[in-house]
Amino acid sequence: MQTASTEQWSKPLVPDWLNRAAAEAWREAQRTAVLLPLLALHPAQLAIKRNAARFNAIRCGRRFGKDVLLQDVLIEPALHGQPVGWFAPTYKDTADNWRDLIFRLASVIKASNKTEKRIDLTSGGWIEMWSLEDPDSGRGRKYKRIVVNEASKVRELQYSWEYVIRATLTDLAGDAFFGGTPKGLNYFYRLCRQHETHPDWRAFHFTTYDNPFIPRAELDALRAELPDRVFRQEIMAEFVEDGAYFQNVGACATIAEPDTPEQHAGHVIVGGVDWAKKDDYTVLTLGCQNCNRVVDWQWFNEIDYHLQRARFLALHERWGVLYWLVESNSIGEPNIEELQYADLPIEGFDMTPTSKPPLITSIRRRINSS
Ligand SMILES: [Zn+2]
Repeated sequence: MQTASTEQWSKPLVPDWLNRAAAEAWREAQRTAVLLPLLALHPAQLAIKRNAARFNAIRCGRRFGKDVLLQDVLIEPALHGQPVGWFAPTYKDTADNWRDLIFRLASVIKASNKTEKRIDLTSGGWIEMWSLEDPDSGRGRKYKRIVVNEASKVRELQYSWEYVIRATLTDLAGDAFFGGTPKGLNYFYRLCRQHETHPDWRAFHFTTYDNPFIPRAELDALRAELPDRVFRQEIMAEFVEDGAYFQNVGACATIAEPDTPEQHAGHVIVGGVDWAKKDDYTVLTLGCQNCNRVVDWQWFNEIDYHLQRARFLALHERWGVLYWLVESNSIGEPNIEELQYADLPIEGFDMTPTSKPPLITSIRRRINSS
């Protein structure tokens, strides 16, 4: 076996600033009443914890370390004998954090009930976990601190917060932490702006780059791969406007699995095409006029138009599409001409600053009312 030379060992294994952060995290852990397998918080996580107000909206990119931070802030009052509550969008979303908490708190757990998702600690404090699939979850409880994880994904967040959760904090003058990655301009967005008018609120914004354990090169690679909008939302944690304009879009224009042409035999199938620009996807969408909904789609970011056209033709043949409306702006024009040579029922549509707004308004009205 080879032994490392002294020269190798003299090189620092971790960068200096990371050592300092780890040391700081260790001192922080020492301050808590009971020694637990506490995970060292990285500097951005610590910054949030140290600067928290009574109500906190934390938006951050994927893999920032939000769950670890939220577990950390939740544990604290429970170790001091207080009741605390963890809320998540669905029951399934609570599973990983339940496992983590059971592991981290092992030495101080008096009893735990997986079905009720309740952990009682030797300190006298306890943790309850709730799924907000039922927006009334937690009603009637009292807590010293609550955490809403993946807050941007909670469907009735405003109702749950204003009518149910807020009241659980009155008896013990409790505080609250909402964590999430932006998902359009929904209620989580509003919570992130509460501090502008309410002094007891604070907003935090960190990107995935702020997690020192994620290699920057990986994120730079993602920046090159992902459409700009997706990167800005998921990694940079920006509130991206597009997509939030339609309140009901999930119910009427998204499907988990495409239908089959057999399910719509004899129906009128129409299609739309939005060609990819520089950092975007080409999207083909098929709708059934009889059923009034989306039935199939394709999206791809190959810039090779021969491949794009091949995909287009395959979808056309499969569904026997009656009529296509195709974006004709700049990049679309040559494609449309070629497809028209192939005798396909295609009409170009020029999306301009004048033609777009009335379309959007009409789609919005139809989607919001269905
Ligand atoms: Zn149909």
